[in-house]
Amino acid sequence: MIGAFYQPEAVFYDLELLKTLPIQEIRSGFAEVIKHALIADPHFYQWLKINVVDLNSLTLAQLTDSLVKGIKIKNQFVSQDERETGVRAYLNLGHTLGHAIESEMGYGNFTHGEAVMIGMLFALKLSRELLGLSFQIHEFTDWVKTLGYEITIPEQLSLDSLISKMRQDKKSIGESIRFVLLNEVGQPCLQEVSEAILLKELKSF
Ligand SMILES: [Zn+2]
Repeated sequence: MIGAFYQPEAVFYDLELLKTLPIQEIRSGFAEVIKHALIADPHFYQWLKINVVDLNSLTLAQLTDSLVKGIKIKNQFVSQDERETGVRAYLNLGHTLGHAIESEMGYGNFTHGEAVMIGMLFALKLSRELLGLSFQIHEFTDWVKTLGYEITIPEQLSLDSLISKMRQDKKSIGESIRFVLLNEVGQPCLQEVSEAILLKELKSF
């Protein structure tokens, strides 16, 4: 929950150390890799879907390729927009609902990336309903389920509380909440979604 606008001079990844993380943390981080593919690169998305079938047995080469791609994509968005006024917001795909789930579950009880994955699934559904996104959501859902992600909002959470959490988000405007949606894989956009539509879509999610 800490943000910084100052960009680092360099970013180092110690792949040997990454491999020692518990699987939930690998899964949490990998959700962001999948996010980078969805917002920027349909080929990378296809590559991930074909090659990554088990997060327990990621090869060093797969991890390296995924991180390098992810860093390049993130850098491409951030360097165009250092103060998060435009395209940088696309990096928030899945985060509007994701942050609400994370916070309602109590930080530490659900990893960031696992909550964001549920948020991305919901953003894909909204993209299909509101923008006519043509995308194999079922295929995507099956794939991420195989990777061990939860694919639905935890039952104990109330939809009304989630919506009020999303409303508190700095990105919401009036009675609408701003979402990052996809016109296509690699073509994100910002869309205001009214609370009434949001509630309807959450109920049928
Ligand atoms: Zn994130």
